[in-house]
Amino acid sequence: MGCFAWIPKLKPRLRRGKMLLHSSARPTAWEQCPHCKELFGDVYDKRIQLSAVLESSTRCARCWALGHIIGHVTDLASASTVLVGSIWHDNTLEIGVIGPGDTFETAPGYKIYDISDRFKGERRRLDPILGLPIAPKATHVNFRPIGATPEERFGLAKDWLSECVTSHETCNQDDAQYVLPRRLLDISDSDHVRLINTLHQELHPRTAYVALSYCWGKQGNLCTITTNLKQHTAGIPMLSLPSTIRDAVIACKHLGQRYLWVDALCIIQDNLHDKMAQIPQMADIYSGALLVLSAAGSSGSLEGCPLGPLEMQPSPPKLIELDYPLQSNDTEELAGYRVNVVVEQMEHERCRSLPGHWARETFDQDPTDALNVIEERGWTFQERFLAKRSLYIGKGEMSWTCATEVQCECRKPSPSIMTEAGDRVFTRRYGINHMSVNRLFSEAELSKTYSYLWTEIITTYSARLLTQFGDRVAALEGIAVALQRKWPEIYKKDEYFFGCWLSLLPDLLLWHASGEPVSEHISPDLFPSWSWPSCGRPITFMSWMWYGVNPKLWVELLDFEVKPPPPGAVFGQGGGTVTLRGPLIPVKREVVVYDGGFEEVEYVPIDTQLSFMAGGASMDHDDQGPNGDGVSHLALVGSYPFKLQEKSKMLSCAFLCVAPVEGRQEVFRRVGLAIGPRTKQAFLGHDLQRLLTPHIMNYKLV
Ligand SMILES: [Zn+2]
Ligand SMILES: [Zn+2]
Ligand SMILES: [Zn+2]
Repeated sequence: MGCFAWIPKLKPRLRRGKMLLHSSARPTAWEQCPHCKELFGDVYDKRIQLSAVLESSTRCARCWALGHIIGHVTDLASASTVLVGSIWHDNTLEIGVIGPGDTFETAPGYKIYDISDRFKGERRRLDPILGLPIAPKATHVNFRPIGATPEERFGLAKDWLSECVTSHETCNQDDAQYVLPRRLLDISDSDHVRLINTLHQELHPRTAYVALSYCWGKQGNLCTITTNLKQHTAGIPMLSLPSTIRDAVIACKHLGQRYLWVDALCIIQDNLHDKMAQIPQMADIYSGALLVLSAAGSSGSLEGCPLGPLEMQPSPPKLIELDYPLQSNDTEELAGYRVNVVVEQMEHERCRSLPGHWARETFDQDPTDALNVIEERGWTFQERFLAKRSLYIGKGEMSWTCATEVQCECRKPSPSIMTEAGDRVFTRRYGINHMSVNRLFSEAELSKTYSYLWTEIITTYSARLLTQFGDRVAALEGIAVALQRKWPEIYKKDEYFFGCWLSLLPDLLLWHASGEPVSEHISPDLFPSWSWPSCGRPITFMSWMWYGVNPKLWVELLDFEVKPPPPGAVFGQGGGTVTLRGPLIPVKREVVVYDGGFEEVEYVPIDTQLSFMAGGASMDHDDQGPNGDGVSHLALVGSYPFKLQEKSKMLSCAFLCVAPVEGRQEVFRRVGLAIGPRTKQAFLGHDLQRLLTPHIMNYKLV
């Protein structure tokens, strides 16, 4: 398809008298056309039938051009195809083509723009004849065709690697001596991989190895266990490796590497001692690796991570030459009116926020898209964060990130890896999800408080899924170790418990839960109730950290006791008691019924002088009993300006909702977080101390 056979080829009837083409007196047809006007309008998500555009193409030059362009990317004959689009801020027309079998969410989107030389030096936004947007900057020139063979494709990745190792200053300034992993896979044989013990082999401490980051999936992963350790040391046939690991071995061979670290094979999985000893080693294993290889498009060990097949690859932009078809009432000047138009497959916003460019994207991406599975998993978060450099094998293409560069196969290095604002990809805009510890260490771009940095990490990490809820602290250990090493004065090794730094504790107490559970089986009791890991849902923290507001903190940490973990507990689990001093306000629970029957629970201070503090709360767990959650007190943690942007004397307060632990005096567990007061008249700051003094006491949270 793609040719307009039914457009009547009108023989141009040339007229003598010339008419000025750009004369403002005569509006061109497209300005009056009801069909394409909708597409080019300001209203987002305006849909029109492709057939309407085609029908109008004998009357409207823009509809004619559109039909011609769309014909290059879709079948014009399918009657139900709908177009949706609008002109974007870079003056390109973004158009979604919803064909039969597509939904708005899955439909491919295209960027269309005119790059004709004839408009050079002019400051036009639209082609005067065809009404198409003229792009000030052509982006299609940045496209690089994807290699046809694995050799070609991995050859490019190998270039990225050697470029980074030999000439990126930032990427090589970390000269820390990391401990080699205890075991590695030696992949130098052609049909076997051998598990080696790095101590026995007397490998040089700076031996280069690749660390694999991948999702295990529900089943089928091959693990080293006590009974097959000997066998794995003798050699594992390539053919018995699960396909994701086998593909990773092949990738490493292409990259010219000899050693690969894979958790399932290099840690003895049924040996708790071996496992517990290596979890704190993750910072060394991932930061010490030459490269972290990410099986980014694969959701399990049986799925493989082959190089993306052609149909998943980003498609090359198409250059289309349009010759305006002269019509009876056209002027001579239109003869030979020719423009060059580009149609490029579009990237969705979400795609731009990925490191590099993983694959072809649709017009409006579903956030749970399978392309990005690895970015949803808990364990893989630190693997990226700790990496010096990462190579992603995505469903469509390979991409690369290091502290200096972001690359993908289809993109020539160019300003296109910058955002519209011209930011480099690692800036704050992209958030902690795409921050690497290397970058963070080299520039400390997050010029915020240290507690903010940690809350950012937890906010992102806590939303990631875990097969074993008990790993909630363990899967973060590598990052904790890395921060201890970087800022030992702030992130103190002997003050880190249950995902919290004691010195930052008041801030870290103020978390609340939102969203869906991150694991199938959540057992809050594995961690202390005051610590965020006890909550099985994504965590966010009080907003004052985002705004850099300095709150008044009302609690003081008097003491901390940690209980030895029960036998068999996974790394990071256990019980811990904090003794705090601060206002502990007795409350009663009231159910407020609003118009329409909507009920809300409020906690109302028994001390009537504090009644302005009454309000609802966000509960940590869904399964509160019918008679409530047992909340007996609100523990005031901090107060801060009611209106963050103004210099107001009004205050808001952040409280923990606590319930007494039976049989223990002054011992409570946390069940929720309340932010208040909610009333219109927020509290005036200067009286608060006086009113709260009678309630200040010591209490324990478990
Ligand atoms: Zn039109
Ligand atoms: Zn680099
Ligand atoms: Zn790409």
